[in-house]
Amino acid sequence: MMYQSIKARIYPTDAQTEKLSQFFGCARWWWNYALNQTTTTYKETGKGLSREGLNALLPYLKKEFPWLGECHSQVLQSVTLNLSKAFINFFEKRAQYPSFKSKHGKQSIQYPQGTKFVDNLIYLPKLGWIKISLHRQIEGQVKTVTISKNPSGQYFAAILTEQEGEYPIPSSEGTAIGIDLGITDFCITSTGSKFPNPRHIKQHERNLKRKQRKLSRKVKGSNSRNKARKLVARVHQRITNSRLDFLHKLSHKLVNENQVIIVEDLAVKNMVKNHCLAKAIGDCGWSSFLEMLNYKCERYGKILVKVDRFFPSSKTCSNCYHRVSSLPLDVRQWTCSSCGANHDRDVNAALNIKAEGMRILSLGTSETADGGKVRPSRGRKTSVRHSPSKSET
Ligand SMILES: [Zn+2]
Repeated sequence: MMYQSIKARIYPTDAQTEKLSQFFGCARWWWNYALNQTTTTYKETGKGLSREGLNALLPYLKKEFPWLGECHSQVLQSVTLNLSKAFINFFEKRAQYPSFKSKHGKQSIQYPQGTKFVDNLIYLPKLGWIKISLHRQIEGQVKTVTISKNPSGQYFAAILTEQEGEYPIPSSEGTAIGIDLGITDFCITSTGSKFPNPRHIKQHERNLKRKQRKLSRKVKGSNSRNKARKLVARVHQRITNSRLDFLHKLSHKLVNENQVIIVEDLAVKNMVKNHCLAKAIGDCGWSSFLEMLNYKCERYGKILVKVDRFFPSSKTCSNCYHRVSSLPLDVRQWTCSSCGANHDRDVNAALNIKAEGMRILSLGTSETADGGKVRPSRGRKTSVRHSPSKSET
């Protein structure tokens, strides 16, 4: 089966907008209620509540809180499903403990069934037909439709479809490239290319700071504060959009031009206890970028290798493997004292990441590999894992 996700803007009428905000509220309330119930039960009994157990509460709650019944019941059941998934991810140590949803965050609801598409319209149960601007045709069967609202008040539908067929079988035959993610440059490759963060994002960010300062000076609850808040939200949106656009184009280019892409796992980057770095990881979209590389590789039969073990990629000479004891962050160029090779700091790191990835890949595909495993087949799991080596500290 092949899956595809399409995101399109939708234009609800005023009446539909009002209903949507009601549904967002119901879904949020149910998430928080169910999370609270599960947490309490877990503390008391050491066991959580099953999805069925939670769903069984809904009829009673609808009697107690009639407004809950206004919401499409499948929307509420989707919430239960997503909460269960969040708990599974937590128990399997892939995610943090689920948190409460706030009125001020991004709002969304999910429809598992009952949606229809005709021309430029989408049908949502209990809401009716809404204008949608689709730029691509929907192929295959619609699995879920998620409706969301961003802080600047725009509405979107994310349509997940399923289609017969298989993605190409991943193959490592072809060019391999190592990638180092950075702050000055967003991405540096082992072939020596550097992709800086787009300049217009910087301009937007300056604009954002100015507007945030203005907002902070407004009186709470005033009309002008409300206006200023909308302006801030709009700049945020523009930054998000340009960044996503940049990340999409860059990931597409890299996947298109290479067969194997090797990156450092972000958990490893995070291990480098550096405050500035931690902030940059949150800001510049590394995780979205890796996610994009991941699904694009899967779609085109390419292989993404994540180096999930710490090794000093910057401090090792990619030519002779000599390791320098220290290399301050401001040193951009250095010469290896052992072999005399001249290095650009980031390109050298990317070369080392590539070499490490190739080593893992050859281990992972060989039958005698100890703990190495390539799972390039299905889902978002195209990574190669192996146990950490003790010699590296
Ligand atoms: Zn050297």
